[in-house]
Amino acid sequence: MTTPTRIGLAGLAVMGQNLALNIAEKGFPISVYNRTTSKVDETIERAKVEGNLPVYGFHDPESFVRSIQKPRVIIMLVKAGAPVDQTIKTVSVYMEKGDCIIDGGNEWYENTERREKQITDLGLLYLGMGVSGGEEGARHGPSMMPGGAFEAYKYIEDILLKVAAQVPDSGPCVTYIGKGGSGNFVKMVHNGIEYGDMQLIAEAYDVLKSVGKLSNDELQQVFLEWNKGELLSFLIEISADIFGIKDDKGNGYLVDKVLDKTGMKGTGKWTVQQAAELSIAAPTIGSSLDSRFLSGLKEERVQAAKVFKSIGVSDILTDQGVDKKKLIDDGPELARIWKGGCIIRAVFLDRIKKAYDRNPELANLLVDPEFAKEVIDRQSAWRRVVCLAIKSGISTPGMSSSLAYFDTYRRERLPANLVQSQRDYFGAHTYERTDIPGSFHTEWFKIA
Ligand code: NAP
Repeated sequence: MTTPTRIGLAGLAVMGQNLALNIAEKGFPISVYNRTTSKVDETIERAKVEGNLPVYGFHDPESFVRSIQKPRVIIMLVKAGAPVDQTIKTVSVYMEKGDCIIDGGNEWYENTERREKQITDLGLLYLGMGVSGGEEGARHGPSMMPGGAFEAYKYIEDILLKVAAQVPDSGPCVTYIGKGGSGNFVKMVHNGIEYGDMQLIAEAYDVLKSVGKLSNDELQQVFLEWNKGELLSFLIEISADIFGIKDDKGNGYLVDKVLDKTGMKGTGKWTVQQAAELSIAAPTIGSSLDSRFLSGLKEERVQAAKVFKSIGVSDILTDQGVDKKKLIDDGPELARIWKGGCIIRAVFLDRIKKAYDRNPELANLLVDPEFAKEVIDRQSAWRRVVCLAIKSGISTPGMSSSLAYFDTYRRERLPANLVQSQRDYFGAHTYERTDIPGSFHTEWFKIA
C-alpha cells in the first residue's frame, strides 16, 4: 500500500468488522487494526470475499496509524470502559496534533467527556459516536449519533453520510448531536427505549401464548399481520421471523429452547440511573430493567415455581377462556400507545416530530391533542389486556407500569397529599396548601 487510507478503525469484533467493510464499500479506503491480530486477517479475508473491498490490515499499531492520511481519524469499536482507554493509549502515541479519535462503542457519556479533556491536552480531537443497528446495520447502514468536537465531525461527515442507513424522504441516519458526551447520551437513551420496546413485545407474546394459547405458527401470523400496519418495525419483523425458526438440534421451534435469561451490557441501567438523577419517571424502561434482573434469577424462579405448585398454584392461575380473535385485535392497539417515544420507528418518529412542531413547548406527548385522543380511544383495550394478564397470573410490568404512568399523569389530584402530610408529621418537612400560598408545618402529633 503506497497511498494513505482515508480512515482507520481499531477493534474488529462484530461491529468493527462490519463497519469497516461498510466504509470500504462506500469507496473510502480503510486501515484496520485489532489487539488480537487473527481478527485483522479475518477482516481482510472477508473484504476479499465480499467484493475486493479496499481494507488494509495491520498487526502493529504504529504502521496502522501511519497508514492513514492526515489529519488522521481513527474509529474505535472495542468494549466500553478500560479497553477504550487502552486502545486510546495504544494508538495516540503515534498520532499528531489535529488528528482525531472516535469512540463508536456504547460508552458512559461521562467517560467520553473525561477522555475528551485528556485527548485535547495532547492536541487531538475526540468524538463519542453511538452506533445503532447491530451487525446488519453496521454492515449495510447504521444509525449514528456523533457528539464532541464539531471540527472532528466535519472531517468525516462525508463518510458518515454515505455509510449511514438511507431513509427515503428523510435522508441519511446521522447528524451531529452536540458537544461532549451528547452522542453517547442519546445512544444510551435510544437503547433504554429499545429495552422498553422489547419488553412490551415480549409481554404481548406471553399473553398471546400463555393466555391465548397461540402456537408459534399462529404467533408468526399475528406478528406478520401487525408488521403490515402501524406497528411496522424491525423488532416486530424479527419477532415474526423468530417464531418460524425450527430447532436444528432437536424437535420443535428454537424460540422454545432458548433459556429465559436476558443478558445486558449496561445502557438500559444507565438510562434508568440518569432518569432518576434528573427526577424523570421512566416506568416502562425501569420495569424492563427489573424484568431482565428477575429473568437472571432462573434457578430461584424454578425453585419458587416448585414451592407454589406443591401447594396447588399452577403457572397460569385461571383459564380465562379468552376470545383469541379479540385478544389479537387488542394487541396492536396497545403496542401503538406503548410505543410512544420510540425512536426506532420512522412513521412514529414523524408523528412525534409533528406534535413538537405543533407545540415546541409540549410538556408531554400525552397532552398533544392528537396523541391524547388516541390514547383515550384505545385505553379500554389496554386495560382489558392488563386485567386479563393480572387475572391469569401473567406478569406484564411494562404494560402495567405504562398504564399506571398514564393514570397518574392524567389526574389532577393524587394521594401525594397524604405522603406529604406523613413527611411533615414525622420529619417536619413542611407542606404547601391548595388554598393559601407559602410553606406550612403542623405539629400533627400534638393534635392527634
Ligand atoms: P465487543 O464484544 O464489545 O468487544 C470486543 C472488541 O474489544 C475486540 O476487538 C477486542 O479485542 C476489544 N477489546 C477488549 N478488551 C480490550 C482491551 N483491553 N484492549 C484492546 N481491545 C480490547 O465488540 P462488539 O460487539 O463489536 O461491540 C463493540 C462496541 O460497540 C461496544 O461498545 C458495544 O457495546 C457497541 N455496540 C455493539 C452492538 C452489537 O450489536 N454487538 C451494537 C451497537 C453497539 P480482542 O479481539 O483483542 O479481544
